[in-house]
Amino acid sequence: MKIERIETFLIECPIDEPFGWSMGWTDKRGSLITKITTDDGVVGWGEGGGSPSQTVIHDCFAPLLVGEDPLNINRLWHRLFQNLHNDNLTGGFGGGALSGVDIALWDIAGKVSGKSISEMLGGAVRDKVAVYATGLYYQDDEFPTKLIAEAEAYVEAGYAGMKTKVGGLSVADDVKRVQAIRDAIGDDVYLMIDANKAYSARTAIDVGRRLEDLNIHWFEEPVLANDVDGYLEVKSNQPIPVAGGEVLYNRFDARDFISRCALDIIQPDIRYIGGITEFRNVAAMANANGIQVNPHVWGSAIMVSASISLTATFALCPYSRSPNPYEQEPVMEFDQTPNPIRNELASIAFGQSGGFVDVPRGVGLGIEIDLAALERFCLRHFSSK
Ligand code: CA
Repeated sequence: MKIERIETFLIECPIDEPFGWSMGWTDKRGSLITKITTDDGVVGWGEGGGSPSQTVIHDCFAPLLVGEDPLNINRLWHRLFQNLHNDNLTGGFGGGALSGVDIALWDIAGKVSGKSISEMLGGAVRDKVAVYATGLYYQDDEFPTKLIAEAEAYVEAGYAGMKTKVGGLSVADDVKRVQAIRDAIGDDVYLMIDANKAYSARTAIDVGRRLEDLNIHWFEEPVLANDVDGYLEVKSNQPIPVAGGEVLYNRFDARDFISRCALDIIQPDIRYIGGITEFRNVAAMANANGIQVNPHVWGSAIMVSASISLTATFALCPYSRSPNPYEQEPVMEFDQTPNPIRNELASIAFGQSGGFVDVPRGVGLGIEIDLAALERFCLRHFSSK
């Protein structure tokens, strides 16, 4: 079997209700989808990166992939990584591009072997993966009625935890906003905050101390994504556990955060970290250092399926006879913001029940792509031939 064709689809769609976080405000959603076809007609789907990654895939990767055996994922992954490594291009667009190709190769391997992703990884440790609701972004005219209604809806839907944004308002107003959510959901629901890198270490420490009594379960991306010393400073000087890592692009990016225990929870994204292949490496490094792995998930059914399948295989951290989500079990992000791509691109829109999602059992990613939806969302299509 040989790889015959590489295609990529840059996709985007508008959303009805715009929303914001500390770094931006959006009225659309998008992604980059990779399709790899073999000479036997087997098709694998992947997702990773954005528009510049599309160029990386076609200019740098396609010549190295076409004609090769798609089942030798390790050989191909390292060939692509090394192709970028010498020029220090493995981060950013390169990491996204490699992720999209890697996930598509795993999908092909599953379809050829008749196994799911988790089966190919040696089997699932758990049949269901715990998820938390990501929402409670900033919206127009949200405070307090709309914001509280959204938080209450997540409790009603069965989530044991949810995450909101900070860093988009003054510290005083953000504290008031988080307090309103805590008051609405009660003390028994996990609540997390995400600054999306908006603070200096000093401000983040101030925010963490002001929120001390609200039982916040983690403080995500308090400072710049590559600031290991900043993370250590925040972790050491305020009471909330620190999380981050959604824009790490390979195990070398993650190394210092993990080896120096600069965070309590690491959150790689399968679309950026280098796909399933590299996420496994980072997860093993983190586990050995006592760092929880709670994947960042913010894309289509392709990466949602890959993320659930991989998370199902993670070791407990630490081991326990009766493990619980948020304590020893991983907890995966479950994006609840408006996104027609997430709901319409594939045959399955993954749903949660009681704060858990089932591990996909079909071959490969276990999903069928709706080609009409793909065409409808597509802004730019590239093909290797
Ligand atoms: Ca985040």
